[in-house]
Amino acid sequence: MDKLTDISVIKKLMARHNFTFSKSLGQNFLVNPTVCPRMAEAVCEGGGVIEIGPGFGVLTNELCKRAERVAAIELDRRLLPVLSETLSEFDNAEIINADVLKTDLRALIEEKFGQMPVNIAGNLPYYITSPIIMGILEQRLPVGCMVAMVQKEAAERICARPGARECGAVSAAVWYYSEPEILFRVSRGSFMPPPKVDSAVIRLNIRKSPPVVIKNEKAFFSLIKSGFSQRRKTLANSIANTTGRKKEEIYAAMGKSGIDKNARAEQLSLEDWARLTETL
Ligand code: SAM
Repeated sequence: MDKLTDISVIKKLMARHNFTFSKSLGQNFLVNPTVCPRMAEAVCEGGGVIEIGPGFGVLTNELCKRAERVAAIELDRRLLPVLSETLSEFDNAEIINADVLKTDLRALIEEKFGQMPVNIAGNLPYYITSPIIMGILEQRLPVGCMVAMVQKEAAERICARPGARECGAVSAAVWYYSEPEILFRVSRGSFMPPPKVDSAVIRLNIRKSPPVVIKNEKAFFSLIKSGFSQRRKTLANSIANTTGRKKEEIYAAMGKSGIDKNARAEQLSLEDWARLTETL
């Protein structure tokens, strides 16, 4: 197959298949030839890969060269004939025409990969970055890692360690389920059409067991959510305003958990959140 990062190749494919980019589906296709090989290297050690949003198949090509089997989930059915052309040289790729948010990924892993180790990769549609990542993590799927292209700011937020200034409720949850890292940055000019923001590739190395022991995960995540719901306020005010608990009760629990009463949510480590959940 001709190089899918070559703009003249993309234009010919678009003309032949009468294809136009859909903004609402987050269709910004990679045209920087160095990015997909690096992403594929970061995710593949043989085994299987689930790809989210293959587009014209530029990353899928690199994954197929390195993985035993690739199952790529693409919502836009107009891309199916394009993908059968661009992936024709591979017999280890399968395209699934579906919405990734409505796909039973556990069943898909069992059906397509059996006992094979599986990882996840994708240049994600940015309008659903958080639901995709949180959905995958919360389901506790049997996967080793996820390598994803996301907006640069989202990457910084997602990977911020609890206790760091940029940390939010999503980063706390991401750190609970995985060890995240930013692999490299990608400029907006690496895409066609170019988006308004720069991007970054992150890898979430999924933990086999969480870093803190929590009896009631639902209470833990709901406390984190209310703690971060009013970022300008102190943690105690934020929890009091969103849960209706008395401030004195919250101060007492914070004291018992070794947390300063003027602390803000972003100053707490996962251990702090765990202790505060237990005490409250
Ligand atoms: N992988 C290609 C690349 O890097 O050039 C395309 C990436 S583009 C940013 C995102 C892709 O996700 C598009 O092909 C889009 O049609 C697809 N997509 C958008 N929403 C989706 C969803 N809910 N489920 C599956 N695919 C989706």
